[in-house]
Amino acid sequence: MPTRPNPSPIAIIGAGPSGLMAAEVLSQAGQAVALYDAMPSVGRKFLLAGVGGMNITHSEAKRSFVGRYYEQAGWAADWLEGFDAQALRSWVEGLGLATFIGSSGRVFPTDMKAAPLLRAWVARLREQGVQIHTRHRWRGWDEQGRLMLDSPLGELRLIPPATLLALGGASWPRLGSDGAWQPWLAQRGVPVAALRPANCGFEVDGWSELLKRKFAGSPLKNIAMGLPGQPMHSGEAILTEQGLEGSLVYALSASLRRAIEQHGHAPLLIDLLPQQPLGKVRAALEKPRGSRSMAKHLHSQLRLDGAKAALLHEQLSKGTFEDPARLAQAIKALPCPLVRARPVEEAISSAGGVCREGLTDGLMLRALPGVFCAGEMLDWEAPTGGYLLTACFASGRQAAQGMLAYMADAC
Ligand SMILES: Cc1cc2nc3c(=O)[nH]c(=O)nc-3n(C[C@H](O)[C@H](O)[C@H](O)COP(=O)(O)OP(=O)(O)OC[C@H]3O[C@@H](n4cnc5c(N)ncnc54)[C@H](O)[C@@H]3O)c2cc1C
Repeated sequence: MPTRPNPSPIAIIGAGPSGLMAAEVLSQAGQAVALYDAMPSVGRKFLLAGVGGMNITHSEAKRSFVGRYYEQAGWAADWLEGFDAQALRSWVEGLGLATFIGSSGRVFPTDMKAAPLLRAWVARLREQGVQIHTRHRWRGWDEQGRLMLDSPLGELRLIPPATLLALGGASWPRLGSDGAWQPWLAQRGVPVAALRPANCGFEVDGWSELLKRKFAGSPLKNIAMGLPGQPMHSGEAILTEQGLEGSLVYALSASLRRAIEQHGHAPLLIDLLPQQPLGKVRAALEKPRGSRSMAKHLHSQLRLDGAKAALLHEQLSKGTFEDPARLAQAIKALPCPLVRARPVEEAISSAGGVCREGLTDGLMLRALPGVFCAGEMLDWEAPTGGYLLTACFASGRQAAQGMLAYMADAC
């Protein structure tokens, strides 16, 4: 009986969370898998995500969870159907690591780190037979449709039975995901929305030298922010040389970026004392201040000082300080127009990428049958809180299922 030659392995390009997850599903299904990454080691951004505490997913109810993916909630819901936050926690536990829910509802591995998880995971993938090739940079396709890869041993040309691109977005490019793939896909008829910063800082039209010198890097604690007519969000931000950043700014970054794209600026309002109603702030300011300076009055009546008071002085005219009603109004809704997002290279994640209409439900490119995409390189965005990694893992699994169905049809 003639023996069939060993099939060439499925190629996965990009060994971040989405590519690694696809490799797991495919190898468990008995497929030969070769994983290629441009960097000297795998999962570099995943490891960095673990530096400040690896927030792997979120414990909130499914309905609000999927709502975190904005316009792409329906798309993300498809992937999460197959692998939701609870499944992700069980998967982490299957690697021998416990998880816990923090006070904000965010889920972390008990030791908060990414490195032990990645180590255990990569060891398991190798045991399952996944070949991992680092320092292999994909450079697109040649005229014959072969994958072109630069490797330490020279250029490779591959025709795998199916390919997964899991190349990430464009934030923190020194960790490997540099967005270089955008024109290569666009030239082949794949609809790609430009990669833009998400979960990022924003710039104002220039702080004064005084504010920069004395307060750049200072936290603005217990504040709330929002755009006019939208709900205010509470939390903490940081004054930077150029503007504002921090968790509260990241949470609003999608709407801030969109406002800037549409109107040239985002008319951000900051409530410096969200716990105090306007009437109470006004009443406090109306108390006689005698010979005390305005700075002392703000401090003694409202505990407003430091970076918060400096921001107030930065944004308001002298006249406003003489009028308690206007000043109270400004303390509760201080206009702080933002003019641009910080560059995508500094952002936690990116928005944009391969558009949904260019993909099948199994995440295969309609323009390039046999080529699939997963992870942050798809056109969705989400705030921090574990939603990014969850969608990367879940879309990696979805693409792997799509590849298995494609391979089965091809046989
Ligand atoms: C500082 C920071 C903290 C974060 N913290 C969290 C967090 O706590 N929780 C959370 O949910 N998310 C967090 N994220 C986001 C999360 O890490 C990413 O969304 C996730 O890593 C994206 O996974 P991915 O597999 O799509 O892409 P990536 O992790 O970016 O992996 C893509 C891989 O593709 C490789 N690659 C790219 N181009 C090529 C090429 N041409 N040839 C070969 N290989 C290539 C890259 O080297 C890389 O290894 C954080 C991100 C940052 C920057």
